[in-house]
Amino acid sequence: MANELYKEMCAYIDTRKDFMRERRQDFHKHAEAGWHEVRTCSIIADHLVKLGYDKAPCKILMGKECMNDDERMGLPDQEELDFIYQRALDEGAILPYAEKFKDGHTAIVAILETGKPGPIIGLRTDIDALGVIECQDPAVHRPAKEGFASIHEGEMHACGHDGHGTINMVVAETLMKFKDQLCGTVKMVWQPAEEGVRGAKSIAYSGILDDVQYMMAVHMGARPKGSNASIGFSYGLNMANAKMDVYITGKACHAAAPESGNNAMLAMAAIVQGVYGIPRASVGDARINVGQVFAGSGRNVVCDRVKMVMELRGLTQASLEYLEPYARRIIEHAAAMHGCTAEIKMMGATPCYPIDDPAFVDEMNQLAKNLGFETLDPKPGSNSEDYTYMAQRVMERGGKSLMFRCLSDYPAPGHAVTFDIQEEDLPTGSKFFCAMVTHLMGLTN
Ligand SMILES: [Zn+2]
Ligand SMILES: [Zn+2]
Repeated sequence: MANELYKEMCAYIDTRKDFMRERRQDFHKHAEAGWHEVRTCSIIADHLVKLGYDKAPCKILMGKECMNDDERMGLPDQEELDFIYQRALDEGAILPYAEKFKDGHTAIVAILETGKPGPIIGLRTDIDALGVIECQDPAVHRPAKEGFASIHEGEMHACGHDGHGTINMVVAETLMKFKDQLCGTVKMVWQPAEEGVRGAKSIAYSGILDDVQYMMAVHMGARPKGSNASIGFSYGLNMANAKMDVYITGKACHAAAPESGNNAMLAMAAIVQGVYGIPRASVGDARINVGQVFAGSGRNVVCDRVKMVMELRGLTQASLEYLEPYARRIIEHAAAMHGCTAEIKMMGATPCYPIDDPAFVDEMNQLAKNLGFETLDPKPGSNSEDYTYMAQRVMERGGKSLMFRCLSDYPAPGHAVTFDIQEEDLPTGSKFFCAMVTHLMGLTN
């Protein structure tokens, strides 16, 4: 009976629709931005323990157990981390698990060991919200109307990651339920801080994915108007990306005697002029943007401190590798020119790497069609996703990778204050993850 197992899994997932709606709406209401996801992680951990993932040979890796501390980027300061930890506890974060996710360790991995030889598969979902103030007007925004808009001002699930985390929770349930019929190993990853491309590297560089042969990720996507498609693929190539904060330190003095100070404002101005003047190069298209500057303390004071928020992008890895050291030289020397010093903090980065293996994408697109999903055929895409770090880690070791879209009707574009997804589309994500997993195990075709 071909695909009987897959059909049973789908029937089970269909019984979890109410759970998925409630889970997603609860994550949405308690939106936690990058490195804040303590409550989210503790709820996932509790779910996994209840499913039996903590019992050998299965395993749950929480916080530091699946992260490389040194590779975390754009971490908030300790005061903020302490505040959100307490907030998470006040809002029902589950102990003792919550403690594992303290201080910017908001990642969790569940490992299903079937005890039978088979493929090693990784499934990645991200769980962070964005720094967006959600629309609270019930007339134009369903989450506000139905009472699950974010209660955290300035944190909003405006990219669908509340749905992603939920999708993987139901995958974890389904795989455990049908474990005796499966083979190989499945590693389910819930990743923090995707927005700003800050979190994936710490998981990839922990080494826990090094033996993975097939790495798959899901992201919500907008269903085109008039289409019934539920799944989409792309042959995506990621823009290389480097986000940096620059701190310039000079020396303050009275504006009437500027010779006794070092003017950080002048250094900043020289840097802005300088980085935008980096010559174009033959190694690929590139972008640079100084998006924010914070400087100065008063009209008659020579400025001693500046913070600059900037980013660099390259359509090829070579173009970023040309741009980034060039920008660093300008920053360092323009600061020195005015007697100041500059410190550069990396706030996020992604390499330029093809996260989708075209042959693997074609195989899974065909699988989706065989199983009755309507799909959007793959086309070249370009986005910035820090899943790239995981894909690269797996592909460089001979594995395959892809990211598929779980399509939903979007009332507003991603990252907008009225963004929303339809919960009835979430089971599709869980079903297709299970379809790919069982296909790679040789059980579904
Ligand atoms: Zn996003
Ligand atoms: Zn996203």
